[in-house]
Amino acid sequence: MFFHTTETLPRHELELLQVERLKKTIEKALHSPFYQEHLKNISSESINCVDDIKKIPFTTKDNLRANYPYGLLTQAKEDFVRMHVSSGTTGTPTAIFYTQNDLDSWSSLVARSMYATGIRKTDVFQNMSGYGLFTGGLGFHYGSEHLGALTIPAGAGNTARQIKLIKDFSVTAIHILPSYALHFAQSLMKDGIDPKKLSLRIALVGAEPHTEETRKHIEELLDIKAFNSYGLTEMNGPGVAFECIHQSGMHIWEDCYLAEIIDPDTCEPVADGEIGELVLTTLTREGMPIIRYRTRDLTRFIEGTCPCGRTHRRIDRIAGRSDDMIIVKGVNIYPMQIEQVLMNIPEVGLNYQIELFNEGLLDQIRVKVEIKSAYFVEDMRVLQGIQKRITSALSNEILVTPRVELMQNGSIPQTEGKAQRVIDLRNK
Ligand code: ADP
Ligand code: ZN
Repeated sequence: MFFHTTETLPRHELELLQVERLKKTIEKALHSPFYQEHLKNISSESINCVDDIKKIPFTTKDNLRANYPYGLLTQAKEDFVRMHVSSGTTGTPTAIFYTQNDLDSWSSLVARSMYATGIRKTDVFQNMSGYGLFTGGLGFHYGSEHLGALTIPAGAGNTARQIKLIKDFSVTAIHILPSYALHFAQSLMKDGIDPKKLSLRIALVGAEPHTEETRKHIEELLDIKAFNSYGLTEMNGPGVAFECIHQSGMHIWEDCYLAEIIDPDTCEPVADGEIGELVLTTLTREGMPIIRYRTRDLTRFIEGTCPCGRTHRRIDRIAGRSDDMIIVKGVNIYPMQIEQVLMNIPEVGLNYQIELFNEGLLDQIRVKVEIKSAYFVEDMRVLQGIQKRITSALSNEILVTPRVELMQNGSIPQTEGKAQRVIDLRNK
């Protein structure tokens, strides 16, 4: 069962559709001041096959910033009905504008994504992400309505009210940030609420990097199936790539996005199945098309076909952003490597934070780790044992020895939006 017929298009037909749409996208883009400059000597005639996209220069976040706010619009401002800005996790946010057609096609993509996880119009869907400028609010809201599910615009935070809504309206599906999902599960436990007694069955989790281990924790603690949801404001927001019921990578909706994975240093495509930077092109956006956008998100294509029958390729869980990389004592470290180690240690609780600081001339890394309450009451020797084990597991993985600080459950501050995993206290 599929939401849209294009989900199972044979590959060659899908590629023909991509070429046709890419040509149209170039024609459209050439109406914007930025692309008139940027796409010198390129026209729709330059494209005869998907591979011809390599003739086109990349678009970077800096390009978007330099042409902020209106430099990429292809139509008069009065044709636009909505805007969003990115969360600004890695710097100045970027602004994206949508025509009504753009909003309709975005809603349909989100509806398709939700459907792929098993959500139907009979579900009651609670959107627990922030509304407002963040695309996860209105993006899922209209997607869910498009699907026909009863949609509760709960917004972020206020855990007690979230629980009440879930109980009162027998909510079956939620959208929630992974870091908040763990905090939320903890609150349920604290209140003595058995998740098995709730009607929840599906959680859509995304918008920030998280490991397979974290997904498993969420699934166990909430007695729910959790599906990975990937998107970014520059590509509309959520609904770019999504897991289906097989939970084996996220189908990237290739009728609407042309995906490439490149080596971020050489900008050449990586070999099949290798990890690299995801580059995306909008194929159906009219008001603000973006071509060969360097997402800075690191992933790989998953080879082979998915048992669900969808022909759209899958990407792996995002390993991190290329600019998330920490360099300590000359070693490259990604926060997700640390999360993966921590979440495999049974005494570790649900939250952690990484601090970088100077010690003399050297950079040091401190990992603050919440420990389950049951272990925090143990005597010193037990805690020291846990600390030693965490330290050695981490240094095996990241190749430097971090300072490990054990923290009481719930003592690391919880933010309402995306979790801040790395705090850099180093002198700049
Ligand atoms: P910002 O880039 O400022 O955080 P957005 O709100 O547009 O702004 O967030 C998009 C980014 O969030 C993506 O580029 C990616 O880095 C991250 N992201 C989104 N979904 C996921 C996911 N499922 N897994 C990992 N990271 C994700
Ligand atoms: Zn599938």
